[in-house]
Amino acid sequence: MSGIVVIFDFDKTIIDVDSDNWVLDELGASDLFNKLLPTMPWNSLMDKMMGELHLQGKTIHDIEQVLNRVPIHPRVVPAIKAAYASGCDLRVVSDANTFYIETILKHLGIRECFSEINTNPGFVDDEGKLRILPFHDFHKSEHGCNLCPPNMCKGKVIERIQATVAGEKRIIYLGDGAGDFCPSRKLVEGDYMMPRKDFPVWKLICENRDVVKAEVYEWSDGEDMERILLQLIASIIPIEKMENKNANQLFDCKFERIALGALSKPIYVPH
Ligand SMILES: [Mg+2]
Ligand SMILES: [Zn+2]
Repeated sequence: MSGIVVIFDFDKTIIDVDSDNWVLDELGASDLFNKLLPTMPWNSLMDKMMGELHLQGKTIHDIEQVLNRVPIHPRVVPAIKAAYASGCDLRVVSDANTFYIETILKHLGIRECFSEINTNPGFVDDEGKLRILPFHDFHKSEHGCNLCPPNMCKGKVIERIQATVAGEKRIIYLGDGAGDFCPSRKLVEGDYMMPRKDFPVWKLICENRDVVKAEVYEWSDGEDMERILLQLIASIIPIEKMENKNANQLFDCKFERIALGALSKPIYVPH
């Protein structure tokens, strides 16, 4: 293994849409969802909506079919495969759910690239209904972070990962949403934050530049993500140390090894 943990958000980072909205839109349930959203937390409402879809006769197979055609930029899967081939430890931290994420990653053929998926539990119950539960059981105890929704604090997940890798590994974190701001504040010097340009976490980082100790590299689409992520990895791992020789070919054909200084400049606070 290399000394790098790459942590991906899922919605609008690995895939190009929000998986919850995608499923509801495709199955014609968005109007009801939007009507009920002011009345309960997002995560609890998703569970309720899966019950509604079940009542309407929509099956798990229908949901899987919708998930299997989710939009994804064509360079994202190659980027993930290359990062995995270079020996990085890849993980997902997402406020979607295990059923959506597992289904999509398996369909894309990249499930085995990830050592861990941290997200809300999603499972099919005895009646064939998809249930979506909170990552933190906030009915029992609150996670205590006021930046994050009650069901999940991604920063807590980062703290656990940091404790297990004991400062020996550098973290690269990729995300787009407001929920990715809390974990980006947990990163330390030597880590890298890759916020999606013009998305909520990017704006929050621009406005609070001093609270993020990691070096920040913005990206706009899957092509950008692939180029910047693989350049960062190549700048951290000496090529000769890559345990998988195929990784050399993957890197050689895409870009030359570039020193960090040659990368696009970290983003700055606009005045
Ligand atoms: Mg996201
Ligand atoms: Zn938090």
